[in-house]
Amino acid sequence: MNRYYKYKYNKKNLTGVAVSLLLAIFFVFIAFITAQTRKQFILIVISTLSLIALGYYYLSYLPVRRWKEVINTPFPEKWKEILLKNIDFYRELSDEEKEYFEKRIQYFLKTKKITGVGTDVDDKLKLLIAVSAIMPVFAFPEFEYTNIDEILVYPESFDEEYNSGNEKRILGMVGDGAMNRMMILSKKDILSSFSGKRTTENVALHEFVHLIDKMDGAVDGIPGILINKAYTLPWLKELKKEISKIKHRKSDINPYGMTNKSEFLAVASEYFFMSPVKFKKNHPELYKYFSKIYRKKVVG
Ligand SMILES: [Zn+2]
Repeated sequence: MNRYYKYKYNKKNLTGVAVSLLLAIFFVFIAFITAQTRKQFILIVISTLSLIALGYYYLSYLPVRRWKEVINTPFPEKWKEILLKNIDFYRELSDEEKEYFEKRIQYFLKTKKITGVGTDVDDKLKLLIAVSAIMPVFAFPEFEYTNIDEILVYPESFDEEYNSGNEKRILGMVGDGAMNRMMILSKKDILSSFSGKRTTENVALHEFVHLIDKMDGAVDGIPGILINKAYTLPWLKELKKEISKIKHRKSDINPYGMTNKSEFLAVASEYFFMSPVKFKKNHPELYKYFSKIYRKKVVG
Protein backbone atom coordinates (compact mmCIF):
# COMPACT_ATOMS: atom_id res chain seq x y z
CA MET A 1 0.00 0.00 0.00
CA ASN A 2 2.68 2.47 1.00
CA ARG A 3 4.58 1.54 -2.11
CA TYR A 4 1.49 2.28 -4.17
CA TYR A 5 1.14 5.77 -2.78
CA LYS A 6 4.80 6.58 -3.12
CA TYR A 7 4.63 5.56 -6.76
CA LYS A 8 1.41 7.44 -7.39
CA TYR A 9 2.63 10.68 -5.86
CA ASN A 10 6.09 10.47 -7.34
CA LYS A 11 4.40 10.15 -10.70
CA LYS A 12 2.14 13.11 -9.94
CA ASN A 13 5.17 15.04 -8.79
CA LEU A 14 7.03 14.35 -12.03
CA THR A 15 4.06 15.49 -14.12
CA GLY A 16 3.98 18.68 -12.03
CA VAL A 17 7.65 19.35 -12.66
CA ALA A 18 7.25 18.74 -16.39
CA VAL A 19 4.23 21.04 -16.68
CA SER A 20 5.97 23.77 -14.66
CA LEU A 21 9.10 23.54 -16.82
CA LEU A 22 7.11 23.80 -20.04
CA LEU A 23 5.20 26.78 -18.67
CA ALA A 24 8.45 28.43 -17.57
CA ILE A 25 10.03 27.98 -21.03
CA PHE A 26 6.90 29.37 -22.66
CA PHE A 27 6.85 32.49 -20.46
CA VAL A 28 10.57 33.14 -20.85
CA PHE A 29 10.01 33.01 -24.61
CA ILE A 30 7.06 35.43 -24.36
CA ALA A 31 9.15 37.73 -22.17
CA PHE A 32 11.97 37.52 -24.69
CA ILE A 33 9.81 38.66 -27.60
CA THR A 34 7.78 41.29 -25.70
CA ALA A 35 10.33 42.95 -23.39
CA GLN A 36 11.89 46.08 -24.77
CA THR A 37 14.73 46.47 -22.29
CA ARG A 38 16.95 43.96 -20.50
CA LYS A 39 15.59 45.14 -17.15
CA GLN A 40 12.00 44.56 -18.29
CA PHE A 41 12.92 41.11 -19.53
CA ILE A 42 14.44 40.11 -16.17
CA LEU A 43 11.45 41.52 -14.27
CA ILE A 44 8.93 39.58 -16.37
CA VAL A 45 10.96 36.38 -16.10
CA ILE A 46 11.36 36.62 -12.33
CA SER A 47 7.70 37.38 -11.64
CA THR A 48 6.33 34.65 -13.92
CA LEU A 49 8.79 32.08 -12.59
CA SER A 50 7.79 32.84 -8.99
CA LEU A 51 4.12 32.49 -9.91
CA ILE A 52 4.79 29.14 -11.57
CA ALA A 53 6.80 27.96 -8.55
CA LEU A 54 3.92 28.93 -6.25
CA GLY A 55 1.38 27.17 -8.47
CA TYR A 56 3.59 24.09 -8.59
CA TYR A 57 3.83 24.03 -4.79
CA TYR A 58 0.08 24.14 -4.32
CA LEU A 59 -0.88 21.76 -7.09
CA SER A 60 1.87 19.17 -6.89
CA TYR A 61 4.11 19.42 -3.91
CA LEU A 62 1.52 20.11 -1.20
CA PRO A 63 -0.49 16.86 -1.70
CA VAL A 64 2.76 14.91 -1.96
CA ARG A 65 4.04 16.39 1.27
CA ARG A 66 0.74 15.70 3.02
CA TRP A 67 0.74 12.08 1.86
CA LYS A 68 4.32 11.60 2.94
CA GLU A 69 3.44 12.92 6.37
CA VAL A 70 0.42 10.63 6.58
CA ILE A 71 2.44 7.59 5.49
CA ASN A 72 5.10 8.37 8.08
CA THR A 73 2.64 9.00 10.92
CA PRO A 74 1.63 5.80 12.71
CA PHE A 75 -2.11 5.30 13.20
CA PRO A 76 -2.73 5.64 16.96
CA GLU A 77 -3.52 2.37 18.77
CA LYS A 78 -6.43 4.08 20.51
CA TRP A 79 -7.93 4.96 17.14
CA LYS A 80 -7.60 1.34 16.02
CA GLU A 81 -9.51 0.26 19.09
CA ILE A 82 -12.27 2.75 18.35
CA LEU A 83 -12.55 1.47 14.77
CA LEU A 84 -12.54 -2.19 15.81
CA LYS A 85 -15.21 -1.56 18.41
CA ASN A 86 -17.55 0.56 16.30
CA ILE A 87 -17.02 -0.06 12.59
CA ASP A 88 -18.20 -3.35 11.02
CA PHE A 89 -16.85 -2.21 7.65
CA TYR A 90 -13.34 -1.91 9.12
CA ARG A 91 -13.49 -5.23 10.98
CA GLU A 92 -14.20 -7.08 7.75
CA LEU A 93 -11.12 -5.73 5.96
CA SER A 94 -7.87 -7.68 5.59
CA ASP A 95 -4.81 -6.42 7.48
CA GLU A 96 -3.43 -4.73 4.40
CA GLU A 97 -6.78 -3.10 3.60
CA LYS A 98 -7.11 -1.98 7.22
CA GLU A 99 -3.76 -0.19 6.96
CA TYR A 100 -4.84 1.48 3.73
CA PHE A 101 -8.21 2.49 5.25
CA GLU A 102 -6.36 4.04 8.21
CA LYS A 103 -4.17 6.10 5.89
CA ARG A 104 -7.20 7.33 3.97
CA ILE A 105 -8.77 8.40 7.29
CA GLN A 106 -5.59 10.18 8.38
CA TYR A 107 -5.40 11.99 5.04
CA PHE A 108 -9.05 13.02 5.29
CA LEU A 109 -8.56 14.36 8.82
CA LYS A 110 -5.42 16.19 7.73
CA THR A 111 -7.12 17.96 4.85
CA LYS A 112 -10.58 18.70 6.31
CA LYS A 113 -11.39 20.72 9.39
CA ILE A 114 -13.96 19.38 11.86
CA THR A 115 -15.32 22.01 14.21
CA GLY A 116 -17.80 21.65 17.07
CA VAL A 117 -20.38 24.43 17.34
CA GLY A 118 -21.70 24.54 20.90
CA THR A 119 -20.37 21.05 21.51
CA ASP A 120 -17.03 19.34 21.87
CA VAL A 121 -15.58 17.09 19.19
CA ASP A 122 -13.43 14.21 20.41
CA ASP A 123 -11.30 11.69 18.48
CA LYS A 124 -14.13 9.16 18.30
CA LEU A 125 -16.49 11.62 16.64
CA LYS A 126 -13.81 12.75 14.19
CA LEU A 127 -13.11 9.13 13.31
CA LEU A 128 -16.81 8.33 12.79
CA ILE A 129 -17.10 11.26 10.38
CA ALA A 130 -13.91 10.32 8.49
CA VAL A 131 -14.99 6.67 8.27
CA SER A 132 -18.35 7.74 6.81
CA ALA A 133 -16.55 9.87 4.23
CA ILE A 134 -14.13 7.14 3.17
CA MET A 135 -16.43 4.08 3.10
CA PRO A 136 -18.19 4.99 -0.19
CA VAL A 137 -14.92 5.90 -1.95
CA PHE A 138 -12.63 3.31 -0.41
CA ALA A 139 -12.18 1.57 -3.77
CA PHE A 140 -11.23 4.86 -5.47
CA PRO A 141 -7.67 5.73 -4.44
CA GLU A 142 -7.63 8.86 -6.61
CA PHE A 143 -10.78 10.27 -5.02
CA GLU A 144 -10.67 13.43 -2.93
CA TYR A 145 -13.51 15.53 -1.54
CA THR A 146 -12.49 18.63 -3.46
CA ASN A 147 -15.86 20.32 -2.83
CA ILE A 148 -15.62 20.67 0.94
CA ASP A 149 -13.21 22.24 3.47
CA GLU A 150 -14.93 22.04 6.81
CA ILE A 151 -17.47 20.00 8.74
CA LEU A 152 -19.42 21.78 11.47
CA VAL A 153 -20.82 19.59 14.21
CA TYR A 154 -23.95 20.76 16.01
CA PRO A 155 -24.99 19.09 19.27
CA GLU A 156 -28.36 17.94 17.90
CA SER A 157 -30.57 18.17 14.84
CA PHE A 158 -31.24 21.68 13.54
CA ASP A 159 -33.55 23.74 11.34
CA GLU A 160 -33.11 25.89 8.21
CA GLU A 161 -31.92 28.81 10.37
CA TYR A 162 -29.25 26.58 11.92
CA ASN A 163 -30.97 26.53 15.33
CA SER A 164 -30.06 23.31 17.09
CA GLY A 165 -32.54 21.45 19.30
CA ASN A 166 -34.16 18.14 19.97
CA GLU A 167 -37.25 18.49 17.80
CA LYS A 168 -35.55 19.99 14.75
CA ARG A 169 -35.88 18.34 11.40
CA ILE A 170 -32.44 18.40 9.77
CA LEU A 171 -29.79 15.86 10.82
CA GLY A 172 -27.18 16.88 8.28
CA MET A 173 -26.76 19.07 5.23
CA VAL A 174 -24.29 20.26 2.66
CA GLY A 175 -24.16 24.04 2.80
CA ASP A 176 -24.52 26.52 -0.04
CA GLY A 177 -24.26 30.30 -0.28
CA ALA A 178 -22.38 31.59 2.77
CA MET A 179 -22.07 27.99 3.98
CA ASN A 180 -20.56 26.83 0.70
CA ARG A 181 -17.85 24.15 1.01
CA MET A 182 -19.17 23.23 4.44
CA MET A 183 -21.15 20.36 5.82
CA ILE A 184 -23.22 20.47 8.98
CA LEU A 185 -23.92 17.33 10.98
CA SER A 186 -25.77 16.57 14.19
CA LYS A 187 -23.49 14.97 16.77
CA LYS A 188 -26.33 13.11 18.45
CA ASP A 189 -27.29 11.53 15.13
CA ILE A 190 -23.73 10.64 14.11
CA LEU A 191 -23.26 8.81 17.41
CA SER A 192 -26.61 7.05 17.14
CA SER A 193 -25.76 5.95 13.54
CA PHE A 194 -22.96 3.85 15.05
CA SER A 195 -24.65 2.85 18.30
CA GLY A 196 -26.01 -0.39 16.85
CA LYS A 197 -29.63 0.78 17.19
CA ARG A 198 -30.09 2.42 13.79
CA THR A 199 -28.44 -0.25 11.69
CA THR A 200 -29.44 1.03 8.25
CA GLU A 201 -28.79 4.73 8.78
CA ASN A 202 -25.73 6.94 8.77
CA VAL A 203 -26.37 10.65 8.58
CA ALA A 204 -22.73 11.55 7.83
CA LEU A 205 -22.40 8.99 5.03
CA HIS A 206 -25.70 10.33 3.61
CA GLU A 207 -24.23 13.82 3.25
CA PHE A 208 -20.96 12.55 1.81
CA VAL A 209 -22.90 10.62 -0.83
CA HIS A 210 -24.61 13.91 -1.76
CA LEU A 211 -21.15 15.48 -2.18
CA ILE A 212 -20.04 12.59 -4.40
CA ASP A 213 -23.27 12.87 -6.41
CA LYS A 214 -22.67 16.64 -6.78
CA MET A 215 -19.13 16.28 -8.13
CA ASP A 216 -20.19 15.72 -11.76
CA GLY A 217 -22.13 18.99 -11.63
CA ALA A 218 -25.61 17.55 -11.09
CA VAL A 219 -27.23 16.27 -7.89
CA ASP A 220 -29.31 13.67 -9.70
CA GLY A 221 -28.74 10.28 -8.06
CA ILE A 222 -26.16 9.37 -10.68
CA PRO A 223 -22.68 9.59 -9.16
CA GLY A 224 -20.98 10.33 -12.49
CA ILE A 225 -17.56 10.46 -10.88
CA LEU A 226 -17.79 6.82 -9.72
CA ILE A 227 -20.18 5.05 -12.06
CA ASN A 228 -19.00 3.27 -15.18
CA LYS A 229 -20.73 5.11 -18.06
CA ALA A 230 -22.15 1.83 -19.37
CA TYR A 231 -24.27 1.53 -16.22
CA THR A 232 -25.76 5.01 -16.27
CA LEU A 233 -28.95 4.15 -18.15
CA PRO A 234 -29.63 0.80 -16.45
CA TRP A 235 -28.99 2.53 -13.12
CA LEU A 236 -31.53 5.24 -13.94
CA LYS A 237 -34.13 2.55 -14.69
CA GLU A 238 -33.28 0.73 -11.47
CA LEU A 239 -33.58 4.00 -9.51
CA LYS A 240 -37.10 4.60 -10.82
CA LYS A 241 -38.11 1.02 -10.11
CA GLU A 242 -36.80 1.10 -6.54
CA ILE A 243 -38.39 4.49 -5.79
CA SER A 244 -41.74 3.18 -6.99
CA LYS A 245 -41.33 0.16 -4.68
CA ILE A 246 -41.07 2.54 -1.71
CA LYS A 247 -44.17 4.37 -2.92
CA HIS A 248 -46.09 1.10 -3.02
CA ARG A 249 -44.75 0.13 0.40
CA LYS A 250 -42.86 -2.81 -1.03
CA SER A 251 -39.46 -1.74 0.27
CA ASP A 252 -37.80 -1.38 3.66
CA ILE A 253 -35.62 1.48 2.40
CA ASN A 254 -36.13 4.76 4.27
CA PRO A 255 -39.27 6.40 2.71
CA TYR A 256 -37.33 9.67 2.57
CA GLY A 257 -35.75 8.10 -0.53
CA MET A 258 -39.02 8.85 -2.39
CA THR A 259 -38.23 12.59 -2.27
CA ASN A 260 -36.09 12.38 -5.42
CA LYS A 261 -33.36 10.29 -7.09
CA SER A 262 -30.55 11.95 -5.21
CA GLU A 263 -32.18 11.30 -1.81
CA PHE A 264 -32.81 7.73 -2.87
CA LEU A 265 -29.12 7.27 -3.69
CA ALA A 266 -28.19 8.74 -0.30
CA VAL A 267 -30.55 6.71 1.90
CA ALA A 268 -30.04 3.45 0.01
CA SER A 269 -26.26 3.93 0.23
CA GLU A 270 -26.54 4.33 4.00
CA TYR A 271 -28.31 0.98 4.19
CA PHE A 272 -25.87 -0.68 1.74
CA PHE A 273 -22.78 0.32 3.74
CA MET A 274 -24.18 -0.07 7.24
CA SER A 275 -26.03 -3.42 6.83
CA PRO A 276 -24.70 -5.04 3.64
CA VAL A 277 -25.88 -8.57 4.50
CA LYS A 278 -29.46 -7.51 5.17
CA PHE A 279 -29.37 -5.20 2.15
CA LYS A 280 -28.24 -8.03 -0.12
CA LYS A 281 -30.98 -10.30 1.16
CA ASN A 282 -33.77 -7.72 0.80
CA HIS A 283 -32.54 -5.95 -2.36
CA PRO A 284 -30.45 -8.40 -4.41
CA GLU A 285 -30.79 -6.41 -7.66
CA LEU A 286 -29.95 -3.08 -6.09
CA TYR A 287 -27.10 -4.73 -4.22
CA LYS A 288 -25.54 -5.74 -7.54
CA TYR A 289 -25.73 -2.17 -8.83
CA PHE A 290 -24.22 -0.71 -5.69
CA SER A 291 -21.40 -3.26 -5.69
CA LYS A 292 -20.58 -2.09 -9.20
CA ILE A 293 -20.98 1.63 -8.56
CA TYR A 294 -18.93 1.61 -5.35
CA ARG A 295 -16.66 -1.25 -6.53
CA LYS A 296 -17.26 -2.88 -3.19
CA LYS A 297 -16.45 -6.50 -2.46
CA VAL A 298 -19.57 -8.64 -2.55
CA VAL A 299 -20.60 -9.88 0.89
CA GLY A 300 -21.21 -13.58 1.61
ZN1 LIG B 1 -30.24 14.12 1.70
